[in-house]
Amino acid sequence: MISSRAAGPYTSAEVHINTPVNKPFTYRVPAGMRLEAGMRAIVNFRGRKVTGYVTAVTHDVTGDPGYELKDVIASVDESPVFDERLISLVKYVSGMYFSSVGEAFSKALPSSESSRTRGKAVSPRFSGSSAVPGILTLKQREIFEKIESVGPSAHLIYGITGSGKTEIYINMARSVIAQGKSVIYLVPEISLSSQIYERLHRVFGDSLVLYHSMLSPNRRLENWMKFQRGEAKIAIGTRSAVFMQAPELGLMIIDEEQDGSYKEQSSPRYSARHIAFYRAKTENAHLILGSATPSVETLYAAERGGIALHTLDERYGDAELPGVEIVRVRGAGDEISSKLKLYTKRAVSAGGQAVYLLNRRGFSPLVMCEDCGAAVECSHCSISMNYHRDKGMLCHYCGSARPVPEKCGACGSESMVHVGSGTQKIEEIINTEFPGYRVFRLDQDTARRKEAVPDLIDLMEKREIDILLGTQMVSKGFDFPGITLAGILLADIGMNMPDFRASERIVSLLIQLAGRSGRGGGESRVVIQTFNEEHAVFRFIKNHDYTGFYRSELEIRKALGYPPFGRLARILVRGRDESVVIESARELGDLMDGIIIKGGHKVEKLGPSGAPFTKIGGNYRYHMILKASATAEFSAVIREALENFRPGSVYVEVDIDPVDML
Ligand SMILES: [Zn+2]
Ligand SMILES: [Zn+2]
Repeated sequence: MISSRAAGPYTSAEVHINTPVNKPFTYRVPAGMRLEAGMRAIVNFRGRKVTGYVTAVTHDVTGDPGYELKDVIASVDESPVFDERLISLVKYVSGMYFSSVGEAFSKALPSSESSRTRGKAVSPRFSGSSAVPGILTLKQREIFEKIESVGPSAHLIYGITGSGKTEIYINMARSVIAQGKSVIYLVPEISLSSQIYERLHRVFGDSLVLYHSMLSPNRRLENWMKFQRGEAKIAIGTRSAVFMQAPELGLMIIDEEQDGSYKEQSSPRYSARHIAFYRAKTENAHLILGSATPSVETLYAAERGGIALHTLDERYGDAELPGVEIVRVRGAGDEISSKLKLYTKRAVSAGGQAVYLLNRRGFSPLVMCEDCGAAVECSHCSISMNYHRDKGMLCHYCGSARPVPEKCGACGSESMVHVGSGTQKIEEIINTEFPGYRVFRLDQDTARRKEAVPDLIDLMEKREIDILLGTQMVSKGFDFPGITLAGILLADIGMNMPDFRASERIVSLLIQLAGRSGRGGGESRVVIQTFNEEHAVFRFIKNHDYTGFYRSELEIRKALGYPPFGRLARILVRGRDESVVIESARELGDLMDGIIIKGGHKVEKLGPSGAPFTKIGGNYRYHMILKASATAEFSAVIREALENFRPGSVYVEVDIDPVDML
């Protein structure tokens, strides 16, 4: 495997590897191996066989490299899977988000780690939905024509749920494809968006490919290649599809642009929305964002003219928006209020369906000691564990599980009680309260089964489900005309998170879910249960007034200098030894303070302080927040600080435009 030093002219390859070290590594290409720039290769890196990304191949290299070159073990691809354009895109991503180029490559390209296992692809099941593709209402046509008539530019379609944004996307895609260009269509969660896939498939047939992580690696690569060669003109996918290459890109669509899933949570922590803007600009393509509840940042940009704003405020078929009632609940025994019970019985006996949302999976979120109040906590995290009927105590952050303790770990008392309810418990309550009703539970636990979502769609459409119960998943991507009642079981969950986007997330979630009710026309209703009916956000939700919420939220953000009035960066230091982490975070913070003062940078630094979740997976976590009017301001500070910082046993995470601050 190791070549000798003086073996005459040889071929070398520059290979980027998924490691934080930000430089290419040089390998020798053995004689007879076909390897070109743009292919992936298996190489030996620090004693492990890993996939690398070849960005250059040089023939007839002579001279002594000064060290022993390792041989490339094998090439993965028969022909290049990426070109210069992707190389420059991943370099941009690596610079913007403080990752190595190799890490950026590993996010951008389909993985090859298990390309030998031949998995079966999930193909959405087809069922006859009644929507007729292509026919636009007057308002839809007006928006479509406006977008089509201008040159490549960015657009926001701000349209209430059920107003027919998809029809505009489809028409725009068709128009772009007719010019021989390609379309990338991003959705927040593909497994929940099979209905969109189905609609697009009816229009685009075999010219449509899917791209998401539930596909087998082989199928993923196949679809990547089909799109790259222009054999398929439209790709529908999740976050990472934003990197797909086409002969000529004409349009990028981001549906539900406010969704948190468009932000990657490991290095590089890129925002697909940001990358889409960048690509649309550099590749001269159209960009269309769509949402019923656009992010505050996007709506602000649209109001300021950076994005063209189009409003769609009529529902399809003139369906009325549902009436919203806020109901106060009192905890145990009152999980489903008598009002919600009454409306549920009415809705179902009238042939309708109900959807219940509870943003908490498992059976109960807390098992605690009645005598001393100590909760069962994960030993790796500073967070209480959730009780699951099937798995016992489960940590939702690191995934570790253990049996339910018989005794309190703190005082030894045997009076352990379950507090609060998750979806599993609500399912039991529904079964008792509504005997004979057909219930379907959709949460991370049940959705793991591959057929869960196709089954759900099928059963919902055949009206074989009376109550659909789930976590926020039920608010994403479905269109079930049979739903006439939406119940939010506890709106308070997540409301008091120490995160400036908490209100935006909750309001968006509740308005989205409310919009799922009554899409088939006729009378529909939304019941929101809460411990605190005085909370300011309910006024907006009651009136389906997202714009009103946006205005009040904008005032708060302005006062605090939060986005869209400034950009944020989060620097998180983590490690196994708390005192070392604290010391390192302080050291890194001091370095940054020095750079800020010396360079006269207009950057405000908060912290270091313990992150809201100070311990996760055995790691202690301390963070700092940097605020500035533009990313260039703090990027310079971060770059210089990291160059001068010796991390030792800690690890530094940089998150630009963070979405998760916990
Ligand atoms: Zn106790
Ligand atoms: Zn844990």
